[in-house]
Amino acid sequence: MNTVDRFQALAELDHVTGCINWRSAGDRQVYGVFWLDQKAQRANRVSYNLFIGPIPRGLVIKHSCNNKRCVNSMHLKADTQGQNHEDALNGGLMPVGEECARSDLTEDDVRSMRKEYKEGRTSYGKLGKKYGIAGPTVFRIVKRIYWNHI
Ligand SMILES: [Zn+2]
Repeated sequence: MNTVDRFQALAELDHVTGCINWRSAGDRQVYGVFWLDQKAQRANRVSYNLFIGPIPRGLVIKHSCNNKRCVNSMHLKADTQGQNHEDALNGGLMPVGEECARSDLTEDDVRSMRKEYKEGRTSYGKLGKKYGIAGPTVFRIVKRIYWNHI
């Protein structure tokens, strides 16, 4: 099964809203998770990648339908993090972590970054290069100024 088939098998069209809802989202899991390249990835980001194209660096994927389980690429758009934050605030949904305006890191990235730093033999700059973010951002992540809910 190729990636697109595998992806589509996990999602279901809602004929009323036109949303394609991710099936395997558990109760606690707001966003669908899709395993790709041995990594858990956000289903809406994977959808954008598969059906629209690469997500421009630094942009986040927003839902025009406000349904976080939706992976319909027609309902997704890449937008700046600031706008996403603002919309979420306006909508009364205060985002944390992966949805927050820091980067397109995943929670797993944050955990392994802190682990690697703790184990030594690396630096904020090196970690920044590895994860595609600035050294000072790594510092803030390691010091739990950012992503302090993990
Ligand atoms: Zn939708």
